[in-house]
Amino acid sequence: MAANISLRDRNCTTQLASATIRAQLLQQLQKEILEAVATGWPLSRILTLLCQRAETLSPDAICSVLRVDSEANCLLPLAGPSLPDEVVQATKHVPVGPDVGSCGTAAYRGEPVEVTDIAIDPLWKDYRHLFLPHGLRACWSSPIKGCDGKVSGTFAFYYREPRGPDRLDREIVAACVNLCAIALDHDRAQSHILKLAYRDQQTDLPNRAAFQQRAREILDQLPKSYGPSLAVHYIDLDDFKGVNDTLGHAVGDQLLSAVATRLRAVCKNAEFVARLGGDEFAVLQFPVAKLEEIERLAQRLLSCFARPFEVEERTIATSASIGIARAPTDSNDFSNLLRRADVALYRAKGAGRARYCLFDEEMGQHMLARRAMEKDLRQALAKGEITLHFQPIVHLATGKTTSFEALARWMEPSRGAVPPSEFIPIAEEIGIIVEFGNWFLRRACREAARWPADIKVAVNLSPLQLSRDNFIQQVEAALAESRLPPERLELEITESVPLVANPAIREVLRALKNRGVAIALDDFGTGYSSLSYLRSFPFDRLKIDYSFVREIHEHEQTMAIVKAVLELARSLNVHTTAEGIETEPQRIWLRAQGCSEGQGYLFNPPMPAEKIADFLADERRRSAGSTRIASLPRLKAMS
Ligand code: C2E
Ligand code: MG
Ligand code: MG
Repeated sequence: MAANISLRDRNCTTQLASATIRAQLLQQLQKEILEAVATGWPLSRILTLLCQRAETLSPDAICSVLRVDSEANCLLPLAGPSLPDEVVQATKHVPVGPDVGSCGTAAYRGEPVEVTDIAIDPLWKDYRHLFLPHGLRACWSSPIKGCDGKVSGTFAFYYREPRGPDRLDREIVAACVNLCAIALDHDRAQSHILKLAYRDQQTDLPNRAAFQQRAREILDQLPKSYGPSLAVHYIDLDDFKGVNDTLGHAVGDQLLSAVATRLRAVCKNAEFVARLGGDEFAVLQFPVAKLEEIERLAQRLLSCFARPFEVEERTIATSASIGIARAPTDSNDFSNLLRRADVALYRAKGAGRARYCLFDEEMGQHMLARRAMEKDLRQALAKGEITLHFQPIVHLATGKTTSFEALARWMEPSRGAVPPSEFIPIAEEIGIIVEFGNWFLRRACREAARWPADIKVAVNLSPLQLSRDNFIQQVEAALAESRLPPERLELEITESVPLVANPAIREVLRALKNRGVAIALDDFGTGYSSLSYLRSFPFDRLKIDYSFVREIHEHEQTMAIVKAVLELARSLNVHTTAEGIETEPQRIWLRAQGCSEGQGYLFNPPMPAEKIADFLADERRRSAGSTRIASLPRLKAMS
């Protein structure tokens, strides 16, 4: 009896010990697989590892994992490291159905299917000839269910002899099926995230990231010098901002979706349409052999805008411009190719919009020259190549200088004098205008502080400067540093400053005006909204643009416009300066019409700061002379 008990105890102890080891091994397997999932291993690699570990735990078994392709209603192999290749091939596209071996049936029924003898089981009638020659005699397949309860795959144990699973196998398979479910769910979530990351939500088109990926794939396989080409069509709507501003963003968004639908409709399978952002779309055309094919697609894309769009019960007519670059002709590199398409797009816009333009070498030269200029401009201030010149603004009635306008000059060693109309827009585009503008302001105030106390200085501002939070502090610092009274500073803005739409900028100008700084509206009449602009802020001065002054004696209409502007300024109690006065008749006429001040080559061109003292001394001498001459007859009469 005692011996019996001790024998039973020993059996129990052995069983307990092996159960503990098994549990530990299973835990280890789970840990390993979960770590592989968490660290982002590819799905097939995770499941191959799982099969290998399961086969170590159950040396009689051969594992396989299949995934359900729900669209095709079939199974696809994911892992089966010990299965012969021929068998793996045979499990490709196995249908999900009521009598399709163990796996197809398990996926169909949603429950495990135990086939203990493949040779005789009717479920295997169509497949046994593929498996039996490889010594696979039994197959027990379990469905893998995802977190949504649907069957996402199958996990199978094959045996080399007719048999069913034992208790140990059942434990292993239960753990493996769970791990497979986690791995498949994770993979599905990852693919969904990836899909979101590569789709534009508004238009459901591929987004910029997807576009870039596809373009790079094509570029990688493109022969370097011969064979098929890739064409990038870079599309930009011509007045999307106007639609957004006038009809609102909701209508703008709908318009973009409608544009996307039309673009998709005119593109064939081989043409990849994407939204790059904002109102920019792009099409990859590949493979393409002839220029005519590219032009035909461009025409097709433009034709999308021939009919107006019906959006939220509104009819919106809009057009688009297209820039086209080709690989390998224009570049083999994605960024360069897109940049070239962008240059061509810019050309298409400049040539009147609603058209396409192909990149060419001349544009390339222009682009390179422009890039070189950007690079030089970034260093120009530090190298001392930028200076300020000053142009006198004179009182038209007395001829006396009342202020000087500070005008930027760039003397670049190899290019010579680069006009501000060329480099200021570049400085604005690349963002260094804020640094430049602050420097202009400081330098101008410092110079003005040396002039007689009744002479002011006018400084031009760029829109970007005004939208910086610390602009008021910058002006205050320039005034404090130079000890120039705020009343001697005038800031000139043009209609490119978004005053009407931006109350914050109006506030900044108002705050400066309250401190005593005068605000002038430069180039009046050249913008699109001069009158509403005038209403949006109480300007101290209007500067009538040079283009009007030039035409005073050429066109009667111009004369009438300038007269009306001067009348308007008078009624608003705003000072006026006529810019670009070059002739005496212009000066006489403007003065007669009541224009208070003038600026132009007739008086003096812009001059370096060092010349101002002499210029003012000259002016004083001249005016003293003319006063003396003018007062002579009176003196005589008195005597
Ligand atoms: P603006 O502010 O309207 O400056 C007046 C322009 O007219 C100056 O051109 C000046 O040299 C030119 N000008 C003066 N008198 C005559 C004349 O009788 N006939 C003709 N044809 N032109 C005359 P500039 O110096 O080439 O400056 C061009 C534009 O560049 C300026 O127009 C201004 O918009 C911008 N700019 C110049 N300096 C600065 C600056 O420091 N900051 C900013 N943001 N812009 C500047
Ligand atoms: Mg100006
Ligand atoms: Mg001007």
